[in-house]
Amino acid sequence: MKYAIYSKKKDEISLNLIDEIKHGIKLEYDEKNPDIVITVGGDGTFIRAVHNYIDNLCNIVFFGIKTGHLGFYSNYTKENINELVDRINNNNFEIENHDLVKWECNGKSGYSLNEITIVNPCATQIVDVYIDKEKFETVRGTGLCICTTNGSTAYNKSLGGPVVDPKLGCLILSEMASINSNAYRSLNSSLVLSNNHKLELVSKNAMYLTSDHLKYEIEGENTIVCYLSDKKVKSGTNKSSIFIDRIKKSFL
Ligand code: NAD
Repeated sequence: MKYAIYSKKKDEISLNLIDEIKHGIKLEYDEKNPDIVITVGGDGTFIRAVHNYIDNLCNIVFFGIKTGHLGFYSNYTKENINELVDRINNNNFEIENHDLVKWECNGKSGYSLNEITIVNPCATQIVDVYIDKEKFETVRGTGLCICTTNGSTAYNKSLGGPVVDPKLGCLILSEMASINSNAYRSLNSSLVLSNNHKLELVSKNAMYLTSDHLKYEIEGENTIVCYLSDKKVKSGTNKSSIFIDRIKKSFL
């Protein structure tokens, strides 16, 4: 077994934590082919680590240590770092699987742990939505957000979308500031789809496609295909990773 630490932070707390982990863990350190990746930072760091190892996800278990306050993916803190080190040294942890959205557009493709968005900050974005090849609606507005259940507490929640238990494994489509009038009509509610549906989003004008923290500029009319992938992100869990507990601690 080999491990790596992934962190973008250079502050004293993070550097001390990294030192402590390196002293405690008895495995070989290998950033190229790790079996375990420990992220030190917050959810953003965890998401970036997943993208960094996207081609090797089936061989890796991620553990997130948070140094800030909100931690959906990062549920260890400096207070329970010894527990984490012991669990890794003794191979004593349970694994939780996280869904990924697979997307394809204009010769590009990728995976998103939280969500993809189609977004236009300056003009009305017009998007025809097809579900399993059948036309569903045309949305006019700022854009659309398609998230995983884990991503339901991120951008989707800010859009008024539902917070969904990750065990349900579904895809959530939410509108961003859509225009609804006598002239234009779309569902204007979030749509929760079971895991076997494929969405095709035909964007009529130039827009940004975002995949978690990544951004792509897309010119002209384009089709974005997205669906839940068979590929999963594995994370090592502890008690504080229980969904209801996380919601209460973070939002209530
Ligand atoms: P970041 O690391 O600063 O993350 C932004 C905030 O979102 C942090 O507070 C983080 O803890 C939280 N977050 C991330 N994933 C979460 C999740 N699954 N559940 C609950 N909270 C979560 O910045 P970043 O790395 O650029 O983050 C990218 C994410 O930012 C995107 O995936 C998107 O979800 C989010 N975002 C949110 C909004 C919004 O809410 N209006 C707008 C743009 C992007």
